[in-house]
Amino acid sequence: MELIVNNERCPQNHPCPAVKVCPVNALTQIGNAAPTVNKDKCIKCGKCSTFCPKKALVLE
Ligand code: SF4
Repeated sequence: MELIVNNERCPQNHPCPAVKVCPVNALTQIGNAAPTVNKDKCIKCGKCSTFCPKKALVLE
């Protein structure tokens, strides 16, 4: 299982609120672009996935 960022679902026009939800700071956002995930840090907790209202962060 890994966290996938679906850039097509993310409108990429706002600061990503899920970045602050991640307990291990695995998400990084540059400007308003879709966040990227540091796969070495991600513990696959699913918090960002549950949090993102656009369902752009998917654990699969
Ligand atoms: S699944 Fe959890 S650890 Fe991984 S990026 Fe999302 S919030 Fe962070």
